[in-house]
Amino acid sequence: MLKRVILLIIAVSVPLLLSAEKVKVRIYSATKITQAVISFDVGRYVVRDASGNIISDTLDLNRSVEVRAQGGKVWVAANAYELGTFDKISITAVDSANLFCINPTGKKQRTYEGDVYIKVLKNNSLEFVSLVDFETYIAGVVQSEIYGKPDQTDIFRVQAIISRTWALRNKNKHKADGYNFCDDVHCQAYYNRCIRPEIVYGTLQSVGEILVDKDGKPIDTPFHSNSGGQTANSEDVWSAKIPYLRSVPDTFSYRMKQSVWKKELTRNEWLNYFSKKHKLDISDSALCDELLNFRQDERKARIHNISLTKIRTDFKLKSTFFSVSANGNKVTLNGRGYGHGVGLSQEGAIRMVTLGYKYQEILMHYYKGAIIYRDMSIVDPKYQGVANDLKKIIEEDKKDNVKASANKGLEKLYSKKEREEREEVYVEEEQDNDADWDYDW
Ligand SMILES: [Zn+2]
Repeated sequence: MLKRVILLIIAVSVPLLLSAEKVKVRIYSATKITQAVISFDVGRYVVRDASGNIISDTLDLNRSVEVRAQGGKVWVAANAYELGTFDKISITAVDSANLFCINPTGKKQRTYEGDVYIKVLKNNSLEFVSLVDFETYIAGVVQSEIYGKPDQTDIFRVQAIISRTWALRNKNKHKADGYNFCDDVHCQAYYNRCIRPEIVYGTLQSVGEILVDKDGKPIDTPFHSNSGGQTANSEDVWSAKIPYLRSVPDTFSYRMKQSVWKKELTRNEWLNYFSKKHKLDISDSALCDELLNFRQDERKARIHNISLTKIRTDFKLKSTFFSVSANGNKVTLNGRGYGHGVGLSQEGAIRMVTLGYKYQEILMHYYKGAIIYRDMSIVDPKYQGVANDLKKIIEEDKKDNVKASANKGLEKLYSKKEREEREEVYVEEEQDNDADWDYDW
């Protein structure tokens, strides 16, 4: 079993030219942490000071490091033996197959691969920056950003390509902070290392693949939860008209979890909003009629001359794709979809995979005229062997009872502790679906 776990770790840790540079990701970026215990599930680790000198014994399973924010510095103990206070420390892996686990006081624990750098921020909170292989990061992002059935690996491949493309375009987003990405939706969600074989497989299949424009530049790859049946033009949501972000009919987004929504308001709430906020004269009966009977059979950008994106923000609506109907004092907004509507609809893409469409067709449907670029010279042949092994595991699982396949596969692959971790990830994913699954661009 351990062999398979290590296979999975190595699977996404083989350095590639494209990803030879590891990325720095701030983990727990949305959480204030003043105290944490770090333990080691796989491989040996050491603690180093800011100059890189080793300050601890070699640490492995059953040993741990405790860190606390203390007067602007990091207080450190290893195996309950106090090492002192430091401006910053790093906990670095000795072995290529490695896993460490962070357990902050009062918060959910998470497991990651690679090294971690720790310092104290001005607000007396500990900052954890993980140094991780690019593809390991991408697999973790895919696990946090999309759901899908184990046998539908093309959906993970689609998400891996758009997340990889986004990361290449935005690798300097947090340059001033000293890292590449945060782990929150401000960048891309990255809530744990990837522990699902089908996601690692989908990510591995697409190593080297990004979306480019006709000049070979990585494109902007926005996505949203559900288009409601038609995606939006970029200029109708943001200012720039981008050639590959065009509105397309998208019936794949029908009859999914986020396909429709409804919001009820009073007539006064609705009309006073236009009168107070936008200085429209609502004593004009023709204008009132327009505002109370607004219809979108196809997506529009405005109601009267007011941007629907502005209205979506002000009323906290799920989308701009709604029609209005009035009955007495009641106004109903009948909406479609969830999210800004630009680029890829995640639920539409999931539906396309179910119907048998391939990842290329899905990407070409949502990013019009973009090109999938795969540079074979940067794809390490070692990946193919690992991908084939993972494929065998997934296919063995498929032969079992389909419904139980995910869990059975995981029993083969993971320890009980790891399966519990996986359950946590699912809970986190569900919370994301409700709160901000829609990527905030
Ligand atoms: Zn960020």
